[in-house]
Amino acid sequence: MLKDSFNRVHDYLRISLTDVCNLRCQYCIYEEHTSFMPPHQLMQADEIDEIAKVFVKLGVKKIRLTGGEPLVRKDAEDIILKLSKYPVKLTLTTNGVFADKFIDTFKRAGINSVNVSLDTLNSDKYLHITRRNVFAVVWNNIQLLMQEGFHVKMNVVLMRGVNDMEILDFIELTKEHPVHVRFIEFMPFEGNEWSEGKVISYNEILENAGEDYSFIRIADEKNDTAKTFKPLNHEGTFSVISTMSAPFCGNCNRMRLTADGKMKNCLFSNGEADILSALRNAENIIPLIEECVKSKAHSHGGQFNGEYKAVDPSRIVNRKMINIGG
Ligand code: SAM
Repeated sequence: MLKDSFNRVHDYLRISLTDVCNLRCQYCIYEEHTSFMPPHQLMQADEIDEIAKVFVKLGVKKIRLTGGEPLVRKDAEDIILKLSKYPVKLTLTTNGVFADKFIDTFKRAGINSVNVSLDTLNSDKYLHITRRNVFAVVWNNIQLLMQEGFHVKMNVVLMRGVNDMEILDFIELTKEHPVHVRFIEFMPFEGNEWSEGKVISYNEILENAGEDYSFIRIADEKNDTAKTFKPLNHEGTFSVISTMSAPFCGNCNRMRLTADGKMKNCLFSNGEADILSALRNAENIIPLIEECVKSKAHSHGGQFNGEYKAVDPSRIVNRKMINIGG
């Protein structure tokens, strides 16, 4: 069992399969971004399998695949199927563009819940945010996933003046569809022009939602990052991931592996453990993993605490989100 110095059990691993993405979301990656990791630097399918096996032995019960965009990787199917043999809840976060090509793979792998990112319900705005004209493809794939029986969680990063006026539209979606909308507070990463003024906070979201809807809070599951609400008589639910205004670090159970095989104990940690190099040198990776977990700061990688309005993004040392894996 992996425990940090605050006695938090770590049993959830997020694995980034690639730093490549087919979208160019403004808050994540530059339009002209071209410095992708060379293939030999990436964890290969067998290496991902081998590393995952060790994490499972150390008590991991949930694995999420992410990226970049996990489904652009040529051997994504192979990796998904390889990982499906472990006794873990396997899931993934995707922009949904290629989801239709993976329905059978997801089913074969026992994946029943998929997070799809969709920041707007307006196709022009989608093009503006992602710089790619694929709103209809993603929307159709979300419908398809639901028809095929998957539980769809829709990730919506809210930014002031960009999509905050769509909060009620997203909640309206949950009336007829059994979808789970997750409003995510905008977080600071290198080069994403974050400022506290752009963050739509948990309180603001609830105030806005309360203007048109009555809803009840649903009890959190252990280690939940989301505070979840059920609008009365709606099929679906919505939640808020309040990383900035109401952090949930106290019961964090998450660890991350970047596509180049570096372990991060927090999305905001600047320390990394080089798991892939150790594996390639035939070293025992268990002590590295244990040490990485033990060195975890209480919150936000030790880079900022307290009031998010006082965060100075220029002082945060971290990779770009695209290179971490959200
Ligand atoms: N390509 C996949 C996707 O679009 O879902 C997976 C990778 S993406 C980095 C994972 C999640 O991180 C997405 O839901 C994305 O919206 C979110 N994300 C990226 N940058 C963010 C930021 N600055 N603040 C909050 N969430 C962010």
